[in-house]
Amino acid sequence: MFSSAVLQLLLTASLSSQKASSPPSAAAPHRLFFSHCVFLFLFSCRRRKAGILPSLEDLLFYTIAEGQEKIPAHKFTTALKATGLRTGDPRLKECMEMLKVTLKTTSDGALDRHLFKKCVQSNIVLLTQAFRKKFVIPDFQPFCAHIDDLYENAKNLSGGQVADYIPQLARFSPDLWAVALCTVDGQRHTVGDTKVPFCLQSCVKPLKYAIAVHDHGTEYVHRFIGKEPSGLRFNKLFLNEDDKPHNPMVNAGAIVCTSLIKVMNFMNKLAGNEYVGFSNATFQSERESGDRNFAIGYYLKEKKCFPEGTDMTSILDFYFQLCSIEVTCESASVMAATLANGGFCPITGERVLSPEAVRNTLSLMHSCGMYDFSGQFAFHVGLPAKSGVAGGILLVVPNVMGIMCWSPPLDKLGNSVRGIQFFSLSLDLFFQDLVSLCNFHNYDNLRHFAKKLDPRREGGDQRVKSVINLLFAAYTGDVSALRRFALSSMDMEQRDYDSRTALHVAAAEGHAEVVRFLLEACKVNPVPKDRWGNTPMDEAVHFGHHDVVTILRDYHNQYSPQDTQDSATDKQNAEKNLDGML
Ligand code: GLU
Repeated sequence: MFSSAVLQLLLTASLSSQKASSPPSAAAPHRLFFSHCVFLFLFSCRRRKAGILPSLEDLLFYTIAEGQEKIPAHKFTTALKATGLRTGDPRLKECMEMLKVTLKTTSDGALDRHLFKKCVQSNIVLLTQAFRKKFVIPDFQPFCAHIDDLYENAKNLSGGQVADYIPQLARFSPDLWAVALCTVDGQRHTVGDTKVPFCLQSCVKPLKYAIAVHDHGTEYVHRFIGKEPSGLRFNKLFLNEDDKPHNPMVNAGAIVCTSLIKVMNFMNKLAGNEYVGFSNATFQSERESGDRNFAIGYYLKEKKCFPEGTDMTSILDFYFQLCSIEVTCESASVMAATLANGGFCPITGERVLSPEAVRNTLSLMHSCGMYDFSGQFAFHVGLPAKSGVAGGILLVVPNVMGIMCWSPPLDKLGNSVRGIQFFSLSLDLFFQDLVSLCNFHNYDNLRHFAKKLDPRREGGDQRVKSVINLLFAAYTGDVSALRRFALSSMDMEQRDYDSRTALHVAAAEGHAEVVRFLLEACKVNPVPKDRWGNTPMDEAVHFGHHDVVTILRDYHNQYSPQDTQDSATDKQNAEKNLDGML
């Protein structure tokens, strides 16, 4: 579990020990790098057990204490929140309870190493993951800052109409606007009116479909309901060629779906026991104003769309009740996150839905979830989502996070104006939206398309991997690999722990073609110094690679020292050159 943290720690330690012992020569440190990794990995667990290495609790203490003897409690909770965890997270219950008790015994509200250990040890796995940046969004704070910017941009929008067919919806202020997200690791962020209860309305449709599939399996559920977008308004009195509702996201399908489910405590489990309420007034109003749904109900009954023995009117009641389930933006983000997390609630760890149910649900949300805007939403945003007449949009970034947006004013197709703006379709150049900022679209390429932000990308680990790959390619003379790296916007000047660059390694190994590529196509700094003060030229001379010496000298003569130092301008030119040379 903690092997790679140990690795990172020991790698850092090995850096300082090497400082004292390494020869100031060009002996290939990249070779040592690999053997170090393997060696340290194998021995770390044993050494930890033998008490030679500090415990995980101690490591956590040193990380947060930043050289101080004690950690003030507020410093710990602030650091914790920065990772995205909440102090109220059910997975941190023991730690928080112990913290409360322990703080009563201190005079200054601070924890020394011993007290800190006592507090964190029962939740050490989750805490270590959090502080080692092992969560799906490793740098959570910068990501949240982007979300806040998107929120602010959409806040100023004024268009749209608040639904007014029942008084319970009409009373909402058009200014209400909230965004809440929960990642699959339970990192939370909220902005705006995220604690105001509102009814799920049609956002409940994917949830009840998921419950139906979880309980009965795909085959049984789809005996009664199709899987195809209808191309018609959500409450149209219309069935497909087999006399079934088109899909479970339109009213007819959702009413049939209602006849297949029984239990309500699913909703609480989906929300990790956060706020789930019920608006009886909304239920009554929905029933009184629900002529169209009654019409659909009778039509479904006539066409024998329900399982045998179904009492259609009580199913309609249940349908209206499900529409009237209340959530807050915060609690609904956990529901969405449970869908993002394959049916496991991220904050309780409980399995709520089967993987089959979640996969089906996401597929149908993707194709049918946004009323008559579903095709466009799938095109522009490329993510499964479901909107409701109360102004909610429940969106899932599979394997990453659930997001709930809520703002009552709706556009002509019934989707929240601010919600749509937040996720996509920012026409104003200065407005950003989530999908043009982050590569969350289902068909965004994650490997080569480096221009968009990928908040999932791992900071530390990824960098180590990328240095290893880069130096290894330089060591083996693999120019085609280097071309690929350069094309995917890898930093070709990055250094290993000895401050050695790909150019050092290629020069030391005598790979003339690599040296030329790095200099001419990538415009890397030709005179970087490693930690012994050696430049690539020193390496080439030392190992007698005369052809490399000539390339480096010629290149150097071509550019004045001023030019070679001005790497910012060079980098821009390099991008243009790459197009020509690759
Ligand atoms: N109660 C509404 C109906 O069934 C739900 C509308 C919606 O959110 O799409 O007509």
